Amino acid sequence: MANWLCVKQCGACCHLDPGERPDLEKYLTPENLQLYLSLVGEDGWCIHFDAEARECKIYDQRPRFCRVQPDVFQELYGIEPEELNDFAIDCCQQQIEGVYGDSSPEMERFNQAVEC
Ligand code: SF4
Ligand code: SF4
Repeated sequence: MANWLCVKQCGACCHLDPGERPDLEKYLTPENLQLYLSLVGEDGWCIHFDAEARECKIYDQRPRFCRVQPDVFQELYGIEPEELNDFAIDCCQQQIEGVYGDSSPEMERFNQAVEC
């Protein structure tokens, strides 16, 4: 069975360009949508993303919607805790495909790490 985990040197989910996430207003509250949009830099990446290290610069203070944890996913997406693993893997693969491509080293590393 594949087990979700976040791999180092990825950061695909920190590419926040709203043009590529058309349903934002469906699952974010108006306050969270405002916060989300305030994080989007001119290049579409989060302003807190360290592009060189490919890490969040405010990891411990990152917004709730950045956290892959059962209570957040249940609240935002209606995902039951037992569905979180598969849902998170799908989300990462979609995001990695959109940002780096389906045949990218990032996708290969992610799939290897979660054993897909
Ligand atoms: S897309 Fe997934 S693996 Fe990549 S940084 Fe985000 S949570 Fe981690
Ligand atoms: S706050 Fe951090 S985890 Fe959230 S999108 Fe920005 S860089 Fe990524």
